[in-house]
Amino acid sequence: MRETNWAGNQTFTAERILRPRTVEQVQEAVAAATAVKALGSRHCFNDIADCPGGVQIDLAGLDPVTELDSDAATITVPAAARYGDIAERVHAAGFALANLASLPHCTVAGTVATATHGSGRRNQGLASAVSGLELVTADGEVKTYTHHDGVVVGLGALGVVTRLTLDLVPAFDLRQDVFDGLPWASAYEHFEEIQAAGYSVSLFTNWARDTIDQVWVKGPGRPGADFFGAKAADGPRHPAHAAGIPADNCTRQLGVPGPWHERIPHFRLDFTPSVGNELQTEYFVPIRHAEAAMETMRGLGHRLAPLLLTSEIRMIAADELWLSPFHGGDRLALHFTWQPEPDAVRALLPVMEERLAPFDVRPHWGKLFDQAADYPRLGDFRELADELDPGGKFRSPFVRRHVFGER
Ligand SMILES: Cc1cc2nc3c(=O)[nH]c(=O)nc-3n(C[C@H](O)[C@H](O)[C@H](O)COP(=O)(O)OP(=O)(O)OC[C@H]3O[C@@H](n4cnc5c(N)ncnc54)[C@H](O)[C@@H]3O)c2cc1C
Repeated sequence: MRETNWAGNQTFTAERILRPRTVEQVQEAVAAATAVKALGSRHCFNDIADCPGGVQIDLAGLDPVTELDSDAATITVPAAARYGDIAERVHAAGFALANLASLPHCTVAGTVATATHGSGRRNQGLASAVSGLELVTADGEVKTYTHHDGVVVGLGALGVVTRLTLDLVPAFDLRQDVFDGLPWASAYEHFEEIQAAGYSVSLFTNWARDTIDQVWVKGPGRPGADFFGAKAADGPRHPAHAAGIPADNCTRQLGVPGPWHERIPHFRLDFTPSVGNELQTEYFVPIRHAEAAMETMRGLGHRLAPLLLTSEIRMIAADELWLSPFHGGDRLALHFTWQPEPDAVRALLPVMEERLAPFDVRPHWGKLFDQAADYPRLGDFRELADELDPGGKFRSPFVRRHVFGER
């Protein structure tokens, strides 16, 4: 029986999955393969991790040793380490990662390869914390990179990452407060203040109701009980609360302070994250287009709402990584958690992308989308891929379509 991604909407078509136990075995496997791709925790929703007819390399069996350097404030981790696994160690040493995604279940290598992000107007995507990495390239050689803007968001197209070094910040505590029913007019009028109300702020909506369903504020202080017209929630909330999903798998809310790694993710490591039976899409637009892009999605609300479990609005700070959607400027993220209806979702994506096209939209590399964006450094990335992989063994159909522009 063939293996699938986490959501079950992609059946992998690789001939086999290899599970090396040493870096030498990774080198041998890559050198011997004609088509090869690293596999993380399979949380992507498209075919980015597939390798038709070739070999997928699952690194979960590699030496799990991590090295924390307190003087340099860095941690070096194996590629398949999950954020939830390393966070305890980082916290115990008095440090934190500056940001985390909504789920702590993904591998570090897969997360940064796809430019995965959390929330917060001053927080960059998770790939920005990578200060170094080790890469097994097509010929089986191990290359080491330090502060290289081209290799981190690599989409698995440059080689197999075996180790990464992440920058740390001092440990911090946060509380998580949820508010119900934010008027849209308030969201527009007070956009900056709302985003500045916490370290990390998320808005949840189905785009069709008169108010934004919930605002999640993760910050050091207590926001006022009346949050720009929204009311403090009277109990824990799931992001898809309006769709009747209970909050059992969510991190602690109701203003109880706790360590960064138990408050920044929406979902707890020991539970299935989000809803489980779902699909996801996410688009990013420059922050100057925030209001227009939100209005545009509201204009499509009658078509979005029947397919949605929930939708999340976040902000991510700019970086300079070549294929990062946040390259060159702060962006607003418009995320969609869909009902498991792939045909209907796929039919809607070109419509959404056409409406968002005037706003220089870029899709999330790891979620469902129709057309990839053009990036200022795309040409440099192609050159690097050609140099590291002249025979194209990492050039999967996803990479051919979305990086090299082949149909
Ligand atoms: C419930 C849920 C919630 C989510 N929440 C968020 C969120 O808050 N923010 C967000 O931005 N995204 C989110 N996502 C998307 C998710 O974060 C990404 O899909 C995920 O980080 C990918 O990591 P992975 O380990 O599952 O990689 P995979 O899906 O297994 O692989 C993804 C890519 O990474 C490459 N890769 C993996 N390992 C290596 C390696 N060792 N060397 C080279 N390349 C490698 C693969 O080849 C592939 O191209 C969510 C997904 C789910 C299912």
